[in-house]
Amino acid sequence: MSDREARKGENEAWFREVNERLEDRAVEGRGFDPDAGLEIVCECSREECTERITVPLAEYERVRSSPVAFIVRPGHAEQAYERVLAGGGSYEIVEKVGDAGAAARVEDPRTAS
Ligand SMILES: [Zn+2]
Repeated sequence: MSDREARKGENEAWFREVNERLEDRAVEGRGFDPDAGLEIVCECSREECTERITVPLAEYERVRSSPVAFIVRPGHAEQAYERVLAGGGSYEIVEKVGDAGAAARVEDPRTAS
């Protein structure tokens, strides 16, 4: 993996952690409506991207159950090392492949020992 690709992986891992905290706060807060969805930040690898995405909580949980799956804005997937699993709405679910996938597995906050 090149340095550039490694940095991009870190960026996505970072946003995943940010979103985990947003989820905790939303679910713990009073008046959270799971049907209304969870507002997260786009988990793409563009450092300058600060777009927000609203996803149903169940969908977020499903994506998070995979260490290599991320939620991004349509068109934000990196064709070189991400595969779009699902999309069509206001967001796409992508899966990292190859070295990027391996790095995402290592950094997964939900499988950290
Ligand atoms: Zn993005």
